[in-house]
Amino acid sequence: MEISSGVRALTLAETFTIARGSTDTAEVVWAEITHEGHVGRGEGAPDDRYGESAGAARSFIDGTGDALGDDPFALEAIEERLRARGGSVVGLCAVECALHDLIGKLAGQPTWRLLGLADRTPPTSYTIGIDSIEGSADRARRAAEAGYRRLKVKLGGEADLERLEAIRAACDLPLRVDANEGWTLDEARALLPVLAGLGVELIEQPFPAGQRDAFRELRSAGSGIPLVVDEGCHTLRDVADVAGYADGVNLKLAKTGGIREAVRMIHAARALGLVVMLGCMIESSLGISAAAQFASLCDFVDLDGHLLISDDPAEGLGLEQGRIVLSQRPGLGVEPLA
Ligand code: MG
Repeated sequence: MEISSGVRALTLAETFTIARGSTDTAEVVWAEITHEGHVGRGEGAPDDRYGESAGAARSFIDGTGDALGDDPFALEAIEERLRARGGSVVGLCAVECALHDLIGKLAGQPTWRLLGLADRTPPTSYTIGIDSIEGSADRARRAAEAGYRRLKVKLGGEADLERLEAIRAACDLPLRVDANEGWTLDEARALLPVLAGLGVELIEQPFPAGQRDAFRELRSAGSGIPLVVDEGCHTLRDVADVAGYADGVNLKLAKTGGIREAVRMIHAARALGLVVMLGCMIESSLGISAAAQFASLCDFVDLDGHLLISDDPAEGLGLEQGRIVLSQRPGLGVEPLA
């Protein structure tokens, strides 16, 4: 197998702000694997919150060398060899997804079929980044008009409560909230009754990763709204730990290092009674399609990274009534635009 890599800059359609900061562009790294006349492509999205960079991810991809072997179907063994090398999880993600794309093309089947799964996915949420009160309401109104059926509201900035109320007044879509580690326990306690009153479906990462006692305290308030761990849950070994302080996990390929680890985590989460959310970074439809392949296994889907950019370099993924529509083409079903 021959492998190559590259970096692509994506442009956000609108400035994207979360509790940690704002951005207008995002970098993704791609891997391309050629074997027996077929080309498999995968993508990874580095986030400096996790100490990742495009350069480190490319180094990982370019250094895979002999570890790929000559059988692209041997996913378990390849992953074991690549993980043993250490280094960028995002680089691993791009390679692992490229292998799924490749073997789908070799077998003439979409990846979701090779995984034994359905192509129908739960509706994705659409993210409303931190903005002014009026700006947030306007974004929510436009999202509802565009046919989205769930909103995820980024909190942890100024005027969380006023923004939420303005969004609720602007549309009646189910709401999820994500504080990106931005709250204190006191702030969360004060907001909790309001969130319950607004019918919020889930609260994502209210506190910094590792603040397990704050999670336990908030959970004991008994609001019935699931507390979901994102920044604090990366791979399979984190899942049992989450069951000790929260109600669910948010999986992202950029953290798991690929599709197989994510699926392992879903089954572990189910065994522990956790709800399962599937999230993403700012990615092109190549990265989002890899996650969408197993979205049918998840309770909450948040795969809108490609919908937030203005220059998606790939095509093949659909959107119908707020649901991601998977391609029937072999592999990940997404190809670069000419
Ligand atoms: Mg999150």
